[in-house]
Parts: sequence; structure tokens; C-alpha cells
Amino acid sequence: MKILMSAVLVALMLSGARAGDSPSADPASFTGRISDKSHVCMMKDSLQPKAGIAHDYQGKRYWLCCEMCVQSFQENPDAVAHAEDPVNGASVDKATAPAYAVKGKAFYFSSEKTLKTFAQDPSHYAAGS
Ligand SMILES: [Zn+2]
Repeated sequence: MKILMSAVLVALMLSGARAGDSPSADPASFTGRISDKSHVCMMKDSLQPKAGIAHDYQGKRYWLCCEMCVQSFQENPDAVAHAEDPVNGASVDKATAPAYAVKGKAFYFSSEKTLKTFAQDPSHYAAGS
């Protein structure tokens, strides 16, 4: 009986660890490629537990977590819509750029190549930003 109980406990612990791999389970600690940008607040550049508000600007779709962020976007759309590739410093469009999260913070890239470079050593590029 005791053995069975510990087997159940181990199984529970393992399933708990797996849940962390999904951005929706714990967005603040998610590290990995962002496949669904609807969960990124592009004002704060952070992953959100729920899909945000779609905001179309110049034919592209941006995602924002709340009305306040939508307002901030509208006040300065070009600044918010763009980000700097942390690897090569290029200006990228958040709507179309490949994105990668480090502990829930979103980064955007000018190409798959710079994303891969970043993913190999995120702390090297993410530090200080
Ligand atoms: Zn927001």
C-alpha cells in the first residue's frame, strides 16, 4: 500500500512539472519559443495567462492585455509596435517577428537565426534589458 501511494505521488509531481512547459499554465516562468502571440502583451512585452485584446494597426495585428495598454499603444504606436533584436540590434515589427520568452518576458527577432542564437544563451543577451 505504501509503495502504491508513493507511486501516485511521483506521478503527481511529474504531471505538475509538465504543466510548467505551457505558457498558459504559468506564463511568468515560461521560457521558450512563443508560438501563440495572442498571449503576449506587446505593451509590456510579457506573457499573459489569457489571450489579450487584438489591435490592428497598419494592416498588422498586435496583442495587448488591457484597455490601458491599448490606449498607450495608440498614443505611440510606432514605438510600441517595434522592438530591438537583442542579438544584432535590428529594429523588428512585433506583429511579424519570431518571438521567444525568457521567464515570461518576450523578445523579438529579425530572423530565425538570431532567435536560435539567443535561445542558446538567453542570459547573455537578455541581461540589462
Ligand atoms: Zn498590457
